[in-house]
Amino acid sequence: MRRTLTGSLFWFVLFYLSLTVLAAETTEIEAALAAIGNGSAEEIKTRLCIDRITVFDDQARAQAIAALPAVLREHRMTQGKLLRRIEPILHQVLQLHGRTRALQQPELFLFAHELPTAQIWRGSVLLVSTSLAETLYDGELAGIFAHELSHAYFEDEMAAAQRTRDERAMRTVELKCDGLAIISLRLLGYKPTSYLSSLQRLQLLTKRLGRSSGILQSHPELAVRAQFSERLIKALD
Ligand SMILES: [Zn+2]
Repeated sequence: MRRTLTGSLFWFVLFYLSLTVLAAETTEIEAALAAIGNGSAEEIKTRLCIDRITVFDDQARAQAIAALPAVLREHRMTQGKLLRRIEPILHQVLQLHGRTRALQQPELFLFAHELPTAQIWRGSVLLVSTSLAETLYDGELAGIFAHELSHAYFEDEMAAAQRTRDERAMRTVELKCDGLAIISLRLLGYKPTSYLSSLQRLQLLTKRLGRSSGILQSHPELAVRAQFSERLIKALD
């Protein structure tokens, strides 16, 4: 009898917990979709790609690079075919976001590493590993770049969420950056669905390397990002 009761209680708690997780994820998706709002891809881009972003001069970029771990600086690739291939893709996304002034543009920092990763560092340096750049097609790379660049538009929101350790608010910002990535792909003439497929391939590659971090670190679960992407793409059609 006791065993049955304990068993039932276990399943009840598990059921309750899964409901709670599901509810939290749904709220994040709803919050991100509401923040993105309605309208065409062009209208949404104009509304969200704000001009009030932190500006960075050469000194700020140099300081940010100097603050990077030495191992990254030692593996920086400052020339070569891969860098020549990805530079114009970043330029394309910057132009689309209206970030035409040098002060609004982060410095591209390609470094040799087997883990596929991309991250905006101190707002002014875009870190990209060779593994990520080699793995992704041009359109997929544009999506990842757009996500990272979009963090600039939600800087205050992210800082507030980090201060209060509000993980749900942080994940909502990540979804909004995903949203802008999808919108950017649509406006650049790439397939918006390629954004999610690129995340899936990156996750697979990361797992194959036996690592759990990388591009997906501190981001919502892939299933949540997939659900969000599907709903946004449907709303744009
Ligand atoms: Zn992000």
